[in-house]
Amino acid sequence: MIGFDLTPEQKALQEKARRFSKEVILPVAAIHDREGTFPVDVMKKAHEAGFFTPLIPREYGGGGFGVLDTCILSEELAAGCMGIYVSIFVSTLALHPIIKFGTDKQKERFLRPFCSKFSIASYCLSEVAVGSDPASMMTTAVLEGNHYILNGTKMWITNGSYADLFLVFAQTDSQKKHKGIVALIVPSDLEGISHGEPIEKMGQRASNTTAVTFKNVRVPKENLLGGTGEGFKKAMAALDITRPMIAIGAVGLARTAMELATQYARKRIQFGVPIIEHQAVQFMLADMAKDIEAARLLVYKAAWLADQGIRNSKEAAMAKAFAADVAMQVTTNAVQVYGGMGYTKWHPVEKLMRDAKVIQIYEGSAQIMRLIIARQMLQEIETTL
Ligand SMILES: Cc1cc2nc3c(=O)[nH]c(=O)nc-3n(C[C@H](O)[C@H](O)[C@H](O)COP(=O)(O)OP(=O)(O)OC[C@H]3O[C@@H](n4cnc5c(N)ncnc54)[C@H](O)[C@@H]3O)c2cc1C
Repeated sequence: MIGFDLTPEQKALQEKARRFSKEVILPVAAIHDREGTFPVDVMKKAHEAGFFTPLIPREYGGGGFGVLDTCILSEELAAGCMGIYVSIFVSTLALHPIIKFGTDKQKERFLRPFCSKFSIASYCLSEVAVGSDPASMMTTAVLEGNHYILNGTKMWITNGSYADLFLVFAQTDSQKKHKGIVALIVPSDLEGISHGEPIEKMGQRASNTTAVTFKNVRVPKENLLGGTGEGFKKAMAALDITRPMIAIGAVGLARTAMELATQYARKRIQFGVPIIEHQAVQFMLADMAKDIEAARLLVYKAAWLADQGIRNSKEAAMAKAFAADVAMQVTTNAVQVYGGMGYTKWHPVEKLMRDAKVIQIYEGSAQIMRLIIARQMLQEIETTL
């Protein structure tokens, strides 16, 4: 009834991503973290390998994989560097609503060229004043003839300096709150689009994060995704699919921290023995292994539900909240296992701890995940009593 074996195709995908992570991502991860630079070469290779387009159906040139398959490959990429993984993953976040809700014409126009030529997509929901409450967004889209006139500034946009395509959420009627929001597919070469300087971040410094401003941008009406007032639903539906993918990134990051801490504990001698022989250290490592396994299983379930077409908002939020907390705890304890050495730039665990923090903030904060879980859980309990 329940199996945990990977299929031969999933094993091959995992192996391909693991090799890519080891040979292409890992060797440059520390450099891009130190310099805060965007690894364009790695992005091109990742696109060529199909890691930008796993969910796009084969008929448009994508991988045609499911959400679970994509999570399996994503864990491996994130194990190399979470910042680089997120830069790869964000295109899936921006494109998924087109895969799910786009017309055949929109898929042909936007997905096929994305697969055949190196391209980057960004997802533009957040604003300076609007994060956890996106329904209050200030960016506007006013329909004039055959165009939406788009005005506003989106904040924290991953790949903002490099995107060829933006999926932008904007308000058509503030009275309607979330029901007035539209989702627009916006090619980055339209007139009136500009981006700010890359934001200096604590972690995930290889990823590019900027503000993006839209000033009287004329977006053709045919670039509207779904109907008027459907945008908010589309934004949320995309997050149900992509939250497991961020959660599995947290699992990959935490796994690397655990492996490094274990290696170090085997070598470091205190009181005449390797510190791994001290039970208190072993218990820290055991907790890491236990929590990583639990996080992976939550992700697999949320991803499996998505693949079955079953609503997974609660499970996706559980996986995201739990895995993000696990990544924070595991990386903090990895620094602990390294002792003073862990607190320096000489060893990679401090980077992992910095990289972990933002996973509790973006794609819906730790608190918002708990709101989603509580809302659905309370409904379920009411209906079963
Ligand atoms: C590196 C990075 C990359 C990002 N990439 C993107 C991107 O590509 N596209 C995009 O659209 N956005 C992106 N974001 C934005 C991200 O999704 C938001 O930062 C996130 O949703 C939180 O919003 P906020 O930062 O405005 O915090 P706020 O919403 O101001 O929240 C501040 C604090 O208050 C808490 N809080 C808020 N409301 C409640 C409540 N009702 N109950 C309990 N607690 C609450 C939050 O949990 C948080 O702890 C990115 C952010 C970062 C840092």
